[in-house]
Amino acid sequence: MIIIGAGIAGLSLGWQLARRGLAPTVIDAGTIGQGASHAAAGYLQPGLDPSLLTDLEWESLRATPAFIADLEAETGLPVDFRTDGQLRIGFAGDEAEIRADHDTRRAAGWDVTLMDGADARALEPALSPEVTIACLLNDVSWVDGRRLCTALASAITARGGQVIEHCPALALTHERGRVTGVKTPKGHMPSDRVALAAGHRFDRIKGLPADLPASIPVRGVILALACPTPLFTRLVKRPDGILCPFSKRPTPSAPSCPTTRCFSARIRGSRGSISRSATPLTATCARPPSRSDWPPRSSAETKKAEVSPRPRSCSCNARLSRAPPRPNCWDRA
Ligand SMILES: Cc1cc2nc3c(=O)[nH]c(=O)nc-3n(C[C@H](O)[C@H](O)[C@H](O)COP(=O)(O)OP(=O)(O)OC[C@H]3O[C@@H](n4cnc5c(N)ncnc54)[C@H](O)[C@@H]3O)c2cc1C
Repeated sequence: MIIIGAGIAGLSLGWQLARRGLAPTVIDAGTIGQGASHAAAGYLQPGLDPSLLTDLEWESLRATPAFIADLEAETGLPVDFRTDGQLRIGFAGDEAEIRADHDTRRAAGWDVTLMDGADARALEPALSPEVTIACLLNDVSWVDGRRLCTALASAITARGGQVIEHCPALALTHERGRVTGVKTPKGHMPSDRVALAAGHRFDRIKGLPADLPASIPVRGVILALACPTPLFTRLVKRPDGILCPFSKRPTPSAPSCPTTRCFSARIRGSRGSISRSATPLTATCARPPSRSDWPPRSSAETKKAEVSPRPRSCSCNARLSRAPPRPNCWDRA
């Protein structure tokens, strides 16, 4: 079995196959986890609209602790998974919106806790005194996507599979309607089973079903901020963006001071107009002087800006062919 793409999707599939005694070969055009999985903020939060995709997201979230525990036990590589929730904060004037969101989530079965500003500050002391209301989404979890990819690749190879870097899939080959392998610059790799997990660049590969929806990459931006101490212990969200304490443990690759990663929904949404120099969120959001300036600028240095596309389609990330499935060829949902 060949899996195209060594991101979270391809490697997760590869590990599950390896655990079942198959020895998959995962190929990547670049290096392990270099795509969206490298840039991702890493928070795990199901959608809110009632849909099959939302059901799948809940099922995935519930399965994640056992998945991670097995992976860490198997590899000895920690991936920093934690479930400490997401705190959605509001300022004066935001109360109705936060309450309505709380009520909707509660009705949909979410574990949510509504609180006033003082209780929110008891949870996260760095919050501004101007925060008047907050809602804690207790189920929201977080994982370090880079560590996860490294651990998955290690688990695959330990079980006899392969992860081959710098090996782009150029085309799927077929014979009499069945897939026969993958064409790469290193030659033809024969296989009667191929899984596509190539992220937003999947549609550059030749030989795929003709009616697969085109990839519509949406740009994402993450800013890593240098803070003397972590600002928050959990994800903190406003409509302007999310602040995410990146890692509680120092790592050899990280700067010596703790780093906070910031995922700006606002920047992400403005497709086409983003440039690294245009990202204004060079700041902590600890004590904003006013709600219009959240987070306040220039109080923390931006260590790094990650800009990476991620896949999106009209059906919200699900990219499935309407044609009868090609035997033994799967696309990622
Ligand atoms: C800035 C940003 C923030 C995000 N934050 C979050 C978040 O907080 N929570 C969340 O759930 N999701 C988040 N996402 C989305 C999440 O990162 C992706 O949904 C997820 O990582 C996709 O994993 P993947 O394996 O499908 O794709 P990728 O990680 O992109 O992996 C695809 C791999 O395929 C390889 N590839 C491509 N073409 C070929 C080819 N022809 N041959 C061989 N290999 C190929 C690429 O090199 C890449 O390594 C974010 C994304 C971005 C960009």
